Amino acid sequence: MTTLTSTEGRVNLRGHSVPVGLYIDGVWRNAPSTFDVINPSTGTVVAQVADGGAAEALSALDAAAGAQEAWRRVAPRERANLFHRAHSLLLSRADAIAETMTIESGKPLAEARSEFQLSADFFLWYAEQVAHLHGTYASGSPGGYRVVTTYQPVGPSLLITPWNFPLLMIARKAGAALAAGCTVVVKSAKETPLTCSLFVETLHDAGFQPGVVNLLHTTRSADVSAAVMADPRLRKVSFTGSTGVGSTLLQQAAPGIVNASMELGGDGPFVVLEDADIDLAAQQAIISKFRNAGQACVAANRIIVHSAVAEEFTRKFVGLTQKLRVGDGFDEGTEVGPIISATQRDTVAGLVESLKAIDAELLTGGSAVEGGGYFYQPTVFKVNDRDNEVCNQELFAPIATIYTVDSTAEAVQVANDTRYGLAAYVFTRDLSRALAVSESLDSGMVGINRGIMADPAAAFGGVKASGLGREGGHDAIYEYLEPKYLAITVDETKGLE
Ligand code: NAD
Repeated sequence: MTTLTSTEGRVNLRGHSVPVGLYIDGVWRNAPSTFDVINPSTGTVVAQVADGGAAEALSALDAAAGAQEAWRRVAPRERANLFHRAHSLLLSRADAIAETMTIESGKPLAEARSEFQLSADFFLWYAEQVAHLHGTYASGSPGGYRVVTTYQPVGPSLLITPWNFPLLMIARKAGAALAAGCTVVVKSAKETPLTCSLFVETLHDAGFQPGVVNLLHTTRSADVSAAVMADPRLRKVSFTGSTGVGSTLLQQAAPGIVNASMELGGDGPFVVLEDADIDLAAQQAIISKFRNAGQACVAANRIIVHSAVAEEFTRKFVGLTQKLRVGDGFDEGTEVGPIISATQRDTVAGLVESLKAIDAELLTGGSAVEGGGYFYQPTVFKVNDRDNEVCNQELFAPIATIYTVDSTAEAVQVANDTRYGLAAYVFTRDLSRALAVSESLDSGMVGINRGIMADPAAAFGGVKASGLGREGGHDAIYEYLEPKYLAITVDETKGLE
């Protein structure tokens, strides 16, 4: 591997200079080969990025392991100051980062800006936590000693992020890990490496020491993770992505008993009861379903509507869907961007065919949009027979499916009839009913009369096949900390002498 000088190894995107190397031990490096990053709105190559393999991944782990001891000993206030510097720098780079995100992920610029703001807020949340970690002090049960509990970083951590929220995922994971005192190796998604590079460059410029943060881009994820996961110096893996890959990583974590946090797939039920505000429900369903072109783990995957309001909801929801403007994320007024890749767009088309094959009624959409990019029309189906495979999977697409039920009990039963349990939504004007239904839903999160709910102060995560652990909220930092208990003998008579 050669080290890049400051002028090499960068690409210029809309006037923003973005590194294209791997970031290992404080320097940007080349790899023996590169891979193309494609703008899904145009299908054109926008950058060629260093393609790391197992050897580079192990170099990154060498750096992270080497920096661990010094990083955990950085005093909390000093570490918090570093975080605050990085946060300020991040804010000053909002345009570069949001525009880069739109170029490589296709998401509309307004959505990229919202993601930027939320990511910066998550990072700030962890900055605020760094200097506020406390232990406990208690009497031992039989007396004669004290129980002191303190927290120590788990150790070098592998953070694997997906392409659908490229900045939010790295900021949320790296924020928690670094705040806790863990050094990190981040593996970006090959579709969106450049956003991660700008984030990591910001940490570098803020003064994070070499080795504390390392970034690997690769087209060989499986080779990279197998090599790093088998190394006993790795103590933690945090993954956001599909349930299948999460399951593989848990198996790789088992032999070395590596601490694991998993944010996996979802099958979000969006329940509209007969007393709901239907205008609000339809408008929130649009956001929940079509944000990021439906490529969100918390998206409304199945819209479950009481039969008494099904006609009204469907009419309003379809009307709003038909008004959505599909296009290049930089075009004024674009609300729905492209699908991430040509392959994924074929998958979306395949899902539409599967739904047609079970006699689901196509209410709008149902076709790819002609042109250079990977666009697909926002699509709505009414599903009459839900006992089919396509009704039991995460669509991860701009396809809404509407199911009709005749009671609250049936709505809850349909909502829970899935292996997943990430986000669920319930719409009703009766708060007591909303709470009772929320408690009955098998999910890690419930949006009540709202279709979007990510927040740094909230614990984000799922149950069942949707994952293990939480990101955000007061407790997320403990995913990267381990309690240590000290038993201290105390001669209680000494205080009375
Ligand atoms: P994916 O699992 O294919 O990829 C996610 C990441 O894992 C990428 O970085 C990819 O390169 C990497 N990866 C793939 N195979 C790997 C392997 N064998 N070892 C190590 N890393 C590997 O998922 P995707 O299609 O890119 O993303 C969509 C999925 O992610 C959906 O299922 C979605 O629900 C889920 N997701 C979950 C959350 C959440 O917080 N729960 C958030 C966003 C996305």
